[in-house]
Amino acid sequence: VRIGEIEVVPILDAEGTFATVDEVFSPVEAALKADAARRFPANFRGDEWWLPIQVALIRTRAATVLIDAGLGPSPRRFMPKAPAYLLEQLGALGLVPEAVDLVIHTHLHVDHVGWNGSFPNARHIIHEKDLAYFSTPQSLSTRPHLHEKVLALRDSGRLDLIDAAAEPITGVKIVPTPGHTPGHISVRVESDDRAFLVLGDIVVHPLQLLDPDIRSTSDHDQEHAARTRRSVLDGLADDGIPVLNSHLHGVGRLVHAGKGWDWMSRE
Ligand SMILES: [Zn+2]
Ligand SMILES: [Zn+2]
Repeated sequence: VRIGEIEVVPILDAEGTFATVDEVFSPVEAALKADAARRFPANFRGDEWWLPIQVALIRTRAATVLIDAGLGPSPRRFMPKAPAYLLEQLGALGLVPEAVDLVIHTHLHVDHVGWNGSFPNARHIIHEKDLAYFSTPQSLSTRPHLHEKVLALRDSGRLDLIDAAAEPITGVKIVPTPGHTPGHISVRVESDDRAFLVLGDIVVHPLQLLDPDIRSTSDHDQEHAARTRRSVLDGLADDGIPVLNSHLHGVGRLVHAGKGWDWMSRE
C-alpha cells in the first residue's frame, strides 16, 4: 500500500492456533459465533481460533521500519508447530536483516517480539509502561521469552523507551492506545494528506468487530481495551483510513455496521 511517499507492506510471519475461541473470549452467543465464522472463515478452524501473525514493513525515504517482530524462529514454546517466515519474506523483498533500522513494538506479547535479536542494526522502540508491566519478576517467570527478546536488547543499549506520542521517523507517528497492555501503542503513517494505521492488538478477533464489547483474556484491562477499541475503530471508520491489524488477514478498511464494524479487505 502506498501512502504518499511512504510504502506500507503487510507481511505474514506465521499462522496457527493456541486456543479455542471459547477459551479466550468472553461468552459469545452461538449465533454471533456462527455469523463470524461465516464472514471470517480464515479465523476459525472448527472451534479453534486460527490467527495470522502479521508484521508491517514501512519504507520511507529515510528508514526501513518494522512494526512488531512476529512469532520468531523455532524452537519456541508458544505455537511451537507454526513455521515463521519473516526473514524469508523480507528477503523476497530484497531486504537483508541488516537493512532494518527500527522496530516499533505495539506491545510485548510473545507473538510481537519473536524475531528480536535478528536485526543487528535496528533500534527498538517500546512504551515504558509496557517494559515496566512485562519486566516484573512475576511476569518474567510466566513469560521467559522476555529475557532473550527484550531484556537482552535493553542491556545492550538498543531500546528506546517512549512515554507519549512521538514521531521517530518523519511520517511515522506513534499513538498510545492502552488497554490490551498498559503501554500498547499504534502507529499512524502519514504522507501527502493520506494516512494508514497499524493497530497492533486493539482488536484481536473478528468477533470483536461484530461486537466491540467481547472481551479477551489476553487483555490487561478489558474495560479499557473495549473503550479504546470503540473510540479508535469508530474514528477509522469515520475517516475511511486503511488499517493493518496483527491478527486479521491483510489490509482492510472499517465500515460502521450494527454494534461494531464491517471489515472491507483490500486484498
Ligand atoms: Zn497482544
Ligand atoms: Zn498479538
